Amino acid sequence: MPKKLLSLKNSKQILAPAIETTRVVIIGTGFVGSTSAFAIMMSGIASEIVLVDVNKDKCLGEAWDLEHGISFVPQTKIWAGDYSDCKDADVVVITAGLGQKVGQTRLELAAANAKIVGDIIEKIKRYTNKAVILTVTNPLDVMTYVALKKSGLPDYQVFGTGTTLDSARFRFLLAQEFGVAPDSMGAYLIGEHGDSEVPVYSHVNLMGENISALPEYDKKAVEQAYTKTKTAAYDIICKKGATYYAIALAVERIVRAILYDENHIFPVSSLLTGQYGLKDVCLSLPAVIGRTGIKKVMEIKLSPDELAKLRQSAKTIMDTIEKVK
Ligand code: NAD
Repeated sequence: MPKKLLSLKNSKQILAPAIETTRVVIIGTGFVGSTSAFAIMMSGIASEIVLVDVNKDKCLGEAWDLEHGISFVPQTKIWAGDYSDCKDADVVVITAGLGQKVGQTRLELAAANAKIVGDIIEKIKRYTNKAVILTVTNPLDVMTYVALKKSGLPDYQVFGTGTTLDSARFRFLLAQEFGVAPDSMGAYLIGEHGDSEVPVYSHVNLMGENISALPEYDKKAVEQAYTKTKTAAYDIICKKGATYYAIALAVERIVRAILYDENHIFPVSSLLTGQYGLKDVCLSLPAVIGRTGIKKVMEIKLSPDELAKLRQSAKTIMDTIEKVK
């Protein structure tokens, strides 16, 4: 065996070519922000993860705890930073703000979180107009609207996780019913990330086959899956105070679609510009996500009942937007 496996003199030759730096800044390092950082660190999709929080000690503690795990995952730089780190950010994820307390609806957080998100956007704006901004703070659709309007950025550059999480819950519960893996289940919700969200029953499918055509189809069980989806956050908050693992994975998955320019379709919340006759409101519809953010919002065919519910959901969000304006 040679004494030295590699000569330092020649080290330049053996280093891998420099990869492009990709930076994700996460504002808010509570349950959702720190778990999202963990998910992004685990998958190795970003070369830099910056944490920012008004609570500097919490932020520093989370950064230290995360970086001590770097030897077990793909190499990533993680640090507790500040808004100036947004300068080189590819994606800024906003998770700062109040969470729901037991029994509280997401919409009840609107006034307090609109102020927080508005202030955060003012600070981000000082350093970048290039990063894609992904909102997570609730009430999600209202916060996405506030972030977009305050930022002055193009519609496609600011959007929210929307019903991506709810759709994953719905798919999981339906998949249990049909005895398949959740990612084999085609199902999603649109509209508000909240109580007025709309299950698109007319599109629920297994490998393209509408579930109503399957022998296992049980309308009541499918409706129950939706009810459980709708109450999931309340149920989890009752048991453990907050929800964060599944949303963190949803954040990681969407950030990956942005950084890798995947053109993946997710039901995310973005500004509507006439889809279904709706405008000046943010809500979730299936959208194509890539490097620049939202590349296309899809206007899928809905049943008359689904359309009526979508319009009602839009109204709920619009009413709350009016209140925080
Ligand atoms: P948390 O209380 O654990 O964390 C919030 C963090 O925000 C805290 O660390 C706090 O210091 C920080 N913060 C508050 N004001 C700030 C400011 N002005 N600047 C920077 N940081 C600030 O809450 P959480 O459980 O992490 O939830 C965060 C938000 O995410 C809530 O609004 C919650 O409802 C929402 N949420 C959304 C989804 C979704 O699907 N979109 C899912 C779960 C939670």
